[in-house]
Amino acid sequence: MSECINHPGKEGMYKCARCKRHFCLVCVELIGEKAYCFDCLKEIVKESREGKVKSLTMKVMVSSIVSLMIAVVSLYNALPLLRLIYKNLMGSYEPLSIITPNDTLYFATGLAFLALSVGLATTKRWAYKYGIVVSAVAFVIGIVNAMSFPGGIEGILSTPQSNATALFIIMAVGPLILLVSILGSRKELLGW
Ligand SMILES: [Zn+2]
Ligand SMILES: [Zn+2]
Repeated sequence: MSECINHPGKEGMYKCARCKRHFCLVCVELIGEKAYCFDCLKEIVKESREGKVKSLTMKVMVSSIVSLMIAVVSLYNALPLLRLIYKNLMGSYEPLSIITPNDTLYFATGLAFLALSVGLATTKRWAYKYGIVVSAVAFVIGIVNAMSFPGGIEGILSTPQSNATALFIIMAVGPLILLVSILGSRKELLGW
């Protein structure tokens, strides 16, 4: 006779369908014909939750593309910095003093959104909180930047054909759309 693992001396008349250990009646949950121990039930619930996380929906996909777009535009604006890094790596030393704070900001933004794009495309759990923080910060920076243009945000919007308007839409409106979209993707990214 096999004993219940939790209760020595008690008959282990039920065999858990998952871990194959023996248990008494109070130590298992009977589901249909099968018995499951509580450790295994917890694992089963966890696994099904994680299974749901791996659903790459259209919404998350679009968020990933928007994030990639912001990354590309940012890195394009950071080209002077990238060129300088490249030149220094190639052995011709250029002074770092010609880099503006804006170049650095665009570079950091580009990397941050590139990481977010990858995280979203692979439905990583960290992409949820990380995405909210990065989008919110980028949105605030985008607005502050836009206000420093001559004429401010109104000036930008009154010249719809200008580069400043395009940049404003991508660097301020983009993160805002992304923020809303990620907040609405909680289920897809976290599983609950
Ligand atoms: Zn079990
Ligand atoms: Zn027992």
